[in-house]
Amino acid sequence: MSEVKVPDIGDFTDVPVIEVLVAVGDTVEADEGLITLESEKSTMDVPAPAAGTVEELLVDVGDTVSEGTVIARMSGGNEGQDDEGSGAEEGSDSSADEGGSSESSEAPDSQGLVNSRSDEEAEVDVGRVVVIGSGPGGYTAAFRAADLGLEVVLVERFETLGGVCLNVGCIPSKALLHAARVIAETEESASFGITFGEPEIDLDRLREWKGDVVGKLTGGLAGMAKRRKVRVVTGEARFLTANEIEVDGTKIDFTHCIIAAGSRSTAIPGLPDDERVIDSTGALELEDIPERLLVVGGGIIGLEMATVYEALGSSVSVVEMTDHLIPGCDRDLLKPLQARIEERYEAIVLGTKVAEVKETDKGLEVSFEGEDAPEPQVYDRILVATGRRANGDLLELGESGVEVGDDGTIAVDSQQRTNVSNIFAIGDVAGAPMLAHKATYEAVIAAEVISGEEVSYDAQSIPSVAYTDPEIAWTGLTETEAKESGRDFEIAKFPWQASGRAIATERAEGLTKLLVDPESRRILGAGIVGVNAGELIAELALAIEMGANATDVGLTVHPHPTLSETVTFAAEVAEGVATDIYAPKRK
Ligand code: FAD
Repeated sequence: MSEVKVPDIGDFTDVPVIEVLVAVGDTVEADEGLITLESEKSTMDVPAPAAGTVEELLVDVGDTVSEGTVIARMSGGNEGQDDEGSGAEEGSDSSADEGGSSESSEAPDSQGLVNSRSDEEAEVDVGRVVVIGSGPGGYTAAFRAADLGLEVVLVERFETLGGVCLNVGCIPSKALLHAARVIAETEESASFGITFGEPEIDLDRLREWKGDVVGKLTGGLAGMAKRRKVRVVTGEARFLTANEIEVDGTKIDFTHCIIAAGSRSTAIPGLPDDERVIDSTGALELEDIPERLLVVGGGIIGLEMATVYEALGSSVSVVEMTDHLIPGCDRDLLKPLQARIEERYEAIVLGTKVAEVKETDKGLEVSFEGEDAPEPQVYDRILVATGRRANGDLLELGESGVEVGDDGTIAVDSQQRTNVSNIFAIGDVAGAPMLAHKATYEAVIAAEVISGEEVSYDAQSIPSVAYTDPEIAWTGLTETEAKESGRDFEIAKFPWQASGRAIATERAEGLTKLLVDPESRRILGAGIVGVNAGELIAELALAIEMGANATDVGLTVHPHPTLSETVTFAAEVAEGVATDIYAPKRK
């Protein structure tokens, strides 16, 4: 039996074990990871020095280890090799030498990077592709590039991977929206004779559960990065040239770089610097349940957070500058949402701006500006959800030559190339729509182009979803856009009052509509409002992508009784063959 010890891991001591990759009795190959360590700078696997069977595991998640700590005992294989120390997976990589660091007086650190601050001549080749930012754009690009056989370094300024989406965006908000839906369902069931008591909300547990959800996903990313041998470097990347960045003094050169630096919440100038004024990240922290909450901005993020806080018990008001909630969304789709929230919220004020906020002991006193502006009101918290701005303007671009627009976005061509041919940009930093699935789509293009594939941006539609209650989703051409552009189109609508499933779930306020080309009968766009609209829209995104026409969709047999049938029924309305409602074809 041989002992497996932690090899030289650079200057690090007492490094936590974040994952145990094997169990006692497992047979492993030489170099297969046994445990994962996470230092301040990166994660690294301690590999098996030789093939064999794990007889004993001497560490567990949460333990700390240093060079020489015995982590396991193994039998079989080439016993005795443990003493030679095969090196942590990342630290043992000799690629640092390939770029000429053999001339350097410094040894590579545990990531194979050379800290070149103290050596002018030090040059490093740590990988061909550097990805800046680990949100859905960045990690997808890094993983796809690694799967294509490229050497990848993923730089993230925060300790946890996943960017806005996983940490403070899509995922935590959907966890809380799930909790909100559960509460709403317990209320709704009263109409069919099932009543529950008032919900008791353990805010600490809810917060902890939301954290667990996030942790599962972000931890999974760290594991996947490791398995793909993507080097994760923690720190803020700044460009030196079009072939080199620096992260905390460590230079990393690259042949290609993918900028996936994301976006940030915009602030309203003049608002007090008061902890009761929060953005979406603050709202997701669930510090408390404010008695009166003002949501500034009636877009998707503001209304999703309003849904959460109203369900938890806040009295919610929404103020929106334009005369329309959710910009970009057709008005008929908005109606069911508006009707429901008008009943439940304290106020929804459109065409109105926040003029001033005064900090008082009683709360935040807000005065408004606009034709229908209400009297000044005092709120316990204000959530500012007025939009997001691309982070391009926060990047230090050095002599890279990358151009950034006034709005912080980085312009790209159809292959995600910036104005500098070996530097790509994807996701929020590359502009609207600022959605995670658009970021991942662009990420794959960038990685594949870099690997030599002839691909380019060719998505026919990027679906949008407001995970409000009811949800609203649309994809392809909207009715508003179609009217503005003056193009010919037909509209086919199927109201959910005629859907057996919607009636059976007491949520028949929904609507499914299609925009159809009058000549080719192809589906140009689709919009759905109702419970689960976000899931239902995917079928229509596929229809648009595949160039399906209304007959194709109408003839596709859908299971009964489902909300998905409303898609078929809307297509039947378009073709004048609907039987579930009376909608004869117009002559
Ligand atoms: P991001 O996720 O913003 O990641 C960028 C990363 O780059 C960050 O981790 C940042 O720290 C890092 N970074 C930046 N500069 C540097 C640097 N110089 N060095 C190192 N690292 C750097 N979208 C949806 O599709 N569906 C939703 O339901 C949804 N809900 C949302 C809810 C909320 C509350 C919010 C705020 C957003 C939501 N979004 C949603 C939008 C979605 O989060 C973004 O579109 C998505 O995260 C963009 O991905 P990205 O990879 O471009 O950037």
